[in-house]
Amino acid sequence: MADTAKKHAADVVRCLRRSYPDAKCSLDFHTPLELLVATVLSAQCTDIRVNLVTPNLFRKYRSAADYARAPSADLEKDIQSTGFFRSKAKSIQNCCRLLAEQYHGQVPRNIDQLVELPGIGRKTANVILGTAFGIASGVVVDTHVTRLARRLGLSRQKDAEKIEKDLMEVVPSQEWVAFSHRMIQHGRKVCAARKPKCDACPFREICPKLGVEPVD
Ligand code: SF4
Repeated sequence: MADTAKKHAADVVRCLRRSYPDAKCSLDFHTPLELLVATVLSAQCTDIRVNLVTPNLFRKYRSAADYARAPSADLEKDIQSTGFFRSKAKSIQNCCRLLAEQYHGQVPRNIDQLVELPGIGRKTANVILGTAFGIASGVVVDTHVTRLARRLGLSRQKDAEKIEKDLMEVVPSQEWVAFSHRMIQHGRKVCAARKPKCDACPFREICPKLGVEPVD
């Protein structure tokens, strides 16, 4: 990896740290299992909506076994407002069945074991490990990180796993967890998919704005 790419990434990391010193996961949770469930629910849904649904859900289902043995129709109803509720309920139940049977109901702290769970991909596994356990297993690449990595010139790839690989090469591992949270926050607040606020952006001097259409 060229030194210039690492230097550019270091500038981005520094600017992110300055702009979003306290950025953290915006999903509410108390345990790794709750974060796992909330992360599954957050697919194609805002974190705000997920946070409206989870207080009752977490009161009702306290363990992996509770999810696993619940009638599917009940769980579907409980998570309906997050959208795609049938497939989300199925993922949660299949995943929790395996957690109950093979891991004594605990969420494993290992990326290889996590990605083997039904419905859990690398993105969700990185969220759980980084946010619930403080383990830097990789960089969370969601829709915001995908967009920003490309605009900021940190990756030219389109595939999330390839983008993550590029980011892991230029961002120091001790930064991975905070870097993901900060990039997501910047994507939400400033570098939106449509009409990014480049003029007011703290990155404007160092960002190549790749793929950003000039505003008339
Ligand atoms: S300068 Fe524009 S494209 Fe670059 S990070 Fe800021 S808002 Fe996004």
